Amino acid sequence: MTDVELNEKLRNLPAVHELVEKISGEAQSGAPAALLMACRSVIENERAFILEGKEPETPEQLRENVLVELDRITRSSMKNVINATGIILHTALGRACLPDSAVEAVSRVAQGYSILQWDGETGRRGHRDIHTERLICELAGSEAATIANNNAGATLLVLAALARGREVIVSRGQLVEIGGAFRIPEVMKQSGAIMHEVGCTNRTHLRDYREAINENTAVILRVHPSNYRIKGFSGEVPLEQLVELGEEFGIPVVDDLGAGSYIDLSKFGLPSEPTVQSSINAGAAVVTSSGDKLIGGPQAGIITGKKEFIQKIKKHPLARALRVGKLTIAALEASLMLFREDAEYLVDNHPLYRMFAADVDHLRKEADKFLTLLKLPASCSASIQETDSYVGSGALPDHAIPSAGAGLASPDNEALARKLRLGSPAVASRIEDGLIKLDMRTLQPGELEVLASLVNNAAQDLWA
Ligand SMILES: *Cc1c(COP(=O)(O)O)cnc(C)c1O
Repeated sequence: MTDVELNEKLRNLPAVHELVEKISGEAQSGAPAALLMACRSVIENERAFILEGKEPETPEQLRENVLVELDRITRSSMKNVINATGIILHTALGRACLPDSAVEAVSRVAQGYSILQWDGETGRRGHRDIHTERLICELAGSEAATIANNNAGATLLVLAALARGREVIVSRGQLVEIGGAFRIPEVMKQSGAIMHEVGCTNRTHLRDYREAINENTAVILRVHPSNYRIKGFSGEVPLEQLVELGEEFGIPVVDDLGAGSYIDLSKFGLPSEPTVQSSINAGAAVVTSSGDKLIGGPQAGIITGKKEFIQKIKKHPLARALRVGKLTIAALEASLMLFREDAEYLVDNHPLYRMFAADVDHLRKEADKFLTLLKLPASCSASIQETDSYVGSGALPDHAIPSAGAGLASPDNEALARKLRLGSPAVASRIEDGLIKLDMRTLQPGELEVLASLVNNAAQDLWA
């Protein structure tokens, strides 16, 4: 190609504004800046192609390219995922699916103004905790409560407010890393509290705590080990005994519960996890827990306990830095309200508890139905599989919940799983025993059909 020909081709490229005008009338997206970006990028690409000696695309192709680019840059990055992993509270997938009542509350409050921090009686500024404090106290049997951004933030805030520059006694068996770099010793350091470790990894005795108490002790901390278990020759001091010891010396016991259920999980066929009520009953001064673990609500850290300590925590400067917004408050209030009701009500109205309670026979039938919807290329096959679901997010880490699902065999499971991950909605699955396993327990209503068509399309794209 001569320079003259090349220049001719470059000159024939439409100007950006021409392309914008041509498409602006027809494009679905009314976002003019995005359209301009898309046109610029398409023309830049086209110019680069021509300079590489390729044939120019037709105006129709250019238009098509702009629409594809426009769709790419205006699509939300927060793609939906069909969770077929069987891990119910999957941190990477956003933990809990919120109950309908919480979704409605968020949407209502998001749209307009609300009395977030406004006292209707006086017209003055109030406190945003009022929307959740009474409810938390009612459910937990506690005196006062406040909310932080998450439980990691709650722990940091509580330690900073109650123990900055002073000692916190904690068992070596509870110096855990929860994941995502939340490590108790690190949080302690950041809070300005001085960690006083006692006992051994596997066993800590009441006398270890007693011997550690001195005039600079501010808090006795208990941490629920959440995502790991010490088995065999091991032992921890029960909360009641820590509280008794603390009372003897006037030292508050802080209980970082993590998952922090408000209902006994044995009602759903799961092993019991400590509830917030039981810690409050045992006399903990302050209990911290997550909003998006066993409450199945929004990300939040719930801090509840005795008024004298909660007041101090609310007044700490970090409380302002870690406060939650109106969407969180609306979602948390609605999620917590469900825990006034019984187990049956929760199963009917809370996706988390529906997933906990789903029985294996029902899930096997779902898997059966899923198989009938598959139209796979000859090189692929599918079968019913017994699977193990898990609660996730550090709750009941060693408890496999018997479940059922489909197992896909294909010429390249990694390739198929990747294609499913990159689809829309994306599919999260597990590769196990040479199969892609799709656990039925974590599917939401209506997702079975969508999942089948995503699997069909992906397999056919790869191998048909
Ligand atoms: C999960 C957990 C945390 C962290 O909670 P987030 O809400 O994820 O910040 C802290 N402590 C314990 C014991 C936990 O289990």
